[in-house]
Amino acid sequence: MGFWHTGYEEHHQISSFWDSDQRLDLSVEYKCEHCGRSFQSADLLVEHRFSSHPYKSPILFVRKRQLGALPININTPLDPSDISIGCATSATLNGKKISLDELKLQLSKVRQDNIDLILSNHELTLRYRINFNISSEEDMAGVESEFLKLVEGKELTRSSIDKFISKAAAYRSATNYMDGLCEYFYGVLAKEGSGNSSLLQSKYREKFNRSAEQLLDYSRPLANFVKGLIAFHFNHFSEAGKFLNNGNLFKISGFYEQIFIGNDVEIEVCESLATKLLENILVDDETNLIINAFKFSDLSRVDLNNLDQESQSDKLSEFGRIKIKILMIKLYIKSKNEKKAVSILKELKGLSNLEPWVDQILKKIE
Ligand SMILES: [Zn+2]
Repeated sequence: MGFWHTGYEEHHQISSFWDSDQRLDLSVEYKCEHCGRSFQSADLLVEHRFSSHPYKSPILFVRKRQLGALPININTPLDPSDISIGCATSATLNGKKISLDELKLQLSKVRQDNIDLILSNHELTLRYRINFNISSEEDMAGVESEFLKLVEGKELTRSSIDKFISKAAAYRSATNYMDGLCEYFYGVLAKEGSGNSSLLQSKYREKFNRSAEQLLDYSRPLANFVKGLIAFHFNHFSEAGKFLNNGNLFKISGFYEQIFIGNDVEIEVCESLATKLLENILVDDETNLIINAFKFSDLSRVDLNNLDQESQSDKLSEFGRIKIKILMIKLYIKSKNEKKAVSILKELKGLSNLEPWVDQILKKIE
């Protein structure tokens, strides 16, 4: 991970990065519970759910998460537009009847409360629990300043994370923010097979998912960047693009997004990392390897051989390996080594979402 080996010194610039928007939910698969169809985005699912199954049970989406029997936590104030209600004719909030429009308004005003909500239509009634614990600006800023101290320590170990937790715990309303950041750090430690982590390497996925979930409500640059990194890691490139908003990783994510929808695009050369602060400090080794490979449009044979070696490393995740192989195919074609390109293309052939691109390139070469 970046900040303990790059020696980046200008942390004081970080304060200028703290503000922005956007969220994502990696843990949710956008699948219709009634017909099983999958959708590319939560918006499409919401639209489908409301238009195709109008006579089913009530349905409630909060920030594009569909609510079920399990309670959810809300950490930043809701906007009425964050709430979508379908197939319901009446609502009861904490025991009082309320109109659906008024309900949205009321929910957007809650700060600290555990809400009991009932939605009904003529046939069915569903009950939801929403726990509001809104983080104050001071507490979120407090967690971020403790995060900076962790960065300045240039060491990511269990004990440096423990120290971060014990300091940041003072900012009580932002506990989930702190937790989301920690889960990312623990995930990175596990993934990089650090002797410092007590977790199995394969556990990192759980940690990354939990991090994305805990950070879901937080639309701040630090939170967004972590969510973007996680989405990028899992090859969810359109979601990654939403959170990364610009910079090298945003461009690289856009490159892969196009390849995964079957458009052959060319590699854009990356700028130096020195000016990209969050990239500098938060990127894990695997993502760092990918960014570095994008820095040169013409890799020498030696560089390509090195990249080839790295792509075999068992430290690499399957998601990272695919990204590196795609990159190598492009680089081999560029250096007129079609034979090598074809052999990697054949390795990728079984992956259904890459098939259109793989077929297209094979056709071009052969
Ligand atoms: Zn459906």
